[in-house]
Amino acid sequence: MNIHEYQAKELLAKYGAPIAAGHAAFTVEEAVEAAKQLPGPLYVVKSQIHAGGRGKGKFKELGPDAKGGVRLAFNLDEVKAHATDMLGNTLVTIQTGDAGKQVNRLYVTDGADIAKEFYLALLVDRATSRIAFVVSTEGGMDIEEVAHSTPEKIHSFSVDPASGFQPHHGRAVAAALGLTGDQAKQAAKVASSLYAAFLDTDAEQIEVNPLALTEQGNLLVLDAKVGFDGNAMFRHKDIAELRDLTEEDAAEVEASKYDLAYIKLDGNIGCMVNGAGLAMATMDIIKLNGEFPA
Ligand code: GDP
Ligand code: MG
Repeated sequence: MNIHEYQAKELLAKYGAPIAAGHAAFTVEEAVEAAKQLPGPLYVVKSQIHAGGRGKGKFKELGPDAKGGVRLAFNLDEVKAHATDMLGNTLVTIQTGDAGKQVNRLYVTDGADIAKEFYLALLVDRATSRIAFVVSTEGGMDIEEVAHSTPEKIHSFSVDPASGFQPHHGRAVAAALGLTGDQAKQAAKVASSLYAAFLDTDAEQIEVNPLALTEQGNLLVLDAKVGFDGNAMFRHKDIAELRDLTEEDAAEVEASKYDLAYIKLDGNIGCMVNGAGLAMATMDIIKLNGEFPA
């Protein structure tokens, strides 16, 4: 189960992660009101959809020359103009597919002056059955390209669940980011707060991209993508309430009411299967014989 960036940031802030001030908005008026509550003069207006790549994304309705789904604003009029452009329109990013996703919510945040963008993520490493850190100095909007062309710039290590997060894990994250002194301490603190959040909430993924180093020398969680183990949500009622059904396929939502895992596919042969392994094998056999599972 996934949640929106603003919800993820509110959650991570509770664990001590450094987050800039910001407010969610459902209308243009609310976006302007949200900005008024921030210090300014720089604001960021961010489309809230369950997909990354928003900064480089394009709105279907606005044409190829319009700006993307994450925009800087230097005054309230610009906040208003960006909000008007975004709300109700369809954002297509590298992660949404061609259909894109309609933007129904915005997040208006206090803008940061960025000196450097890092990458810091936590996920479950299935090879070691452990929670793993993935760290890179090359964060920002081109992380997919970094992973593809220069994978040696991405560092990864896992945490032994028996001993849990230790100070040396924090130092390892700081070292991988090339940070020293006070900034290394900040990095260790961010790492420890993300790990605590991950464990506590039964997360499947916490991706902070970018983890920004500001011109003032502070680390800031500038973007956060958090997903949870759906099977554990019964013990996190507060998180389960954050589910946004408009982000999910209508048929999959309907099926989930009956505890059925329905996966929508584009093919021509429907499959009703019991168990993931049998499902995979059935799909393989259908494809092997020239048809497509639906
Ligand atoms: P994504 O494109 O969906 O990953 O959205 P992000 O939240 O990561 O924003 C995309 C990019 O916008 C970031 O990589 C930053 O370069 C830029 N950005 C986001 N917030 C700020 C901010 O507070 N100040 C500045 N200067 N740039 C920002
Ligand atoms: Mg990002």
